[in-house]
Amino acid sequence: MADLKIVSILGATGSIGRSTVDLLKAHRERYAVNVLTAQGNVELLAEQARELRARKAVIGDEALFAVLKDRLAGTGIACAAGRKAIIEAAADPADWTMAAIVGMAGLEPILAAIGQGGCVAIANKEPLVAAGKLVIAEARKRGTTLLPVDSEHNAVFQVFEPENRGGIERIVLTASGGPFRTWTLAQMTQATPEQAVAHPNWSMGAKISVDSASMMNKALEVIEASYLFDMPPEKIDVLVHPQSIIHSMVEYADGSFLAQLGAPDMRTPIANALGWPGRIATSGLRLDLAALKRLDFETLDSARFPAVGLAYDCLRAGPGACLALNAANEVAVQAFLDRKIGFLQIVDTVRAVLDFTKFEQLADLPGIISFDQAVRQAAKSYILSEAASEKVNR
Ligand code: NDP
Ligand code: MG
Repeated sequence: MADLKIVSILGATGSIGRSTVDLLKAHRERYAVNVLTAQGNVELLAEQARELRARKAVIGDEALFAVLKDRLAGTGIACAAGRKAIIEAAADPADWTMAAIVGMAGLEPILAAIGQGGCVAIANKEPLVAAGKLVIAEARKRGTTLLPVDSEHNAVFQVFEPENRGGIERIVLTASGGPFRTWTLAQMTQATPEQAVAHPNWSMGAKISVDSASMMNKALEVIEASYLFDMPPEKIDVLVHPQSIIHSMVEYADGSFLAQLGAPDMRTPIANALGWPGRIATSGLRLDLAALKRLDFETLDSARFPAVGLAYDCLRAGPGACLALNAANEVAVQAFLDRKIGFLQIVDTVRAVLDFTKFEQLADLPGIISFDQAVRQAAKSYILSEAASEKVNR
């Protein structure tokens, strides 16, 4: 019992959360589960908490507290509800916390998890994009290890030699190209939410699936890589690799490329972070290179996918611009999923918001939260004004 690693999952009911739960179920002898959180999926949260014998389950939506209590009655599992309860649960000591909430909503829980001192595995990329400096600084201050879970960043983490940092020429982030890799702009104008979330290689939550289709996901990942590995934008490249087998690479001064390969299955990077610094087994998909026969690569077409270029502009403009890119994108993706704007308008909205926003210096958490709110409001107003002017033009 003494050797059990205590783990918590923030966002247990999502795509990353469910894969993490699968791994924990397969390695019951190694882990004890502290806290599981979800936002609205109370039935799955209760089921996971029972199956993993969690200490506590927390649901974000306070209206669901009674249901959670009812589903966990007699189990001895503690229950809580509300945003504050999620942040408090994240601060509860654990050796390893999976940060798998979607969007900027995960920032305060990540900071709380960093504050309690255990390792924090980060899938939730948006807080890194919007507040990377603060997140990295807090981790340094507390001596907390951050373990990248995003498949590209986990790949880089596995082949990045910190002792040879000076000999690193560049990080190459691979990109599948998403479901619209071969589509024309005219076709993309008509793209529906259903088409955008149907990713060819990966099964993921709705938001990141839309980001993959617009390539905004790769834009967020360029910024994420810059913060996680402390690399300037000119040392980060993007390469389209449709099969998603090479998850990313590091090129060294001697001409060596070190790459991490694997089947497109998030259980591998999650297992890498969960087992770190060791390795644990997964029952996930395995790579069969002989069956695959070939790996293909393409240059990114920035005319059809302008999002990635915006990330480089934002990195050069500073943290306020990176925050604005993320905030405008979160609003625009939701508007697209709600069928209020077309697919190409997602990146158009982000670009417009970046053009008219005066980027603030992000001094601290309250400053970050208030600037994030202001940009979201600006993005919503922009979308409404565009819709109004379209009606006038018709
Ligand atoms: P999902 O949408 O599948 O899951 C999100 C999770 O967060 C769910 O547990 C959800 O609860 C919870 N949640 C949603 N909104 C809130 C909120 N406001 N406050 C607290 N909890 C909330 O997302 P994914 O698992 O796909 O992605 C999670 C993160 O990981 C994202 O940042 C994504 O970019 C990143 N990522 C995901 C990958 C993937 O393969 N899916 C790959 C690489 C990175 P409920 O279910 O109750 O709504
Ligand atoms: Mg990724």
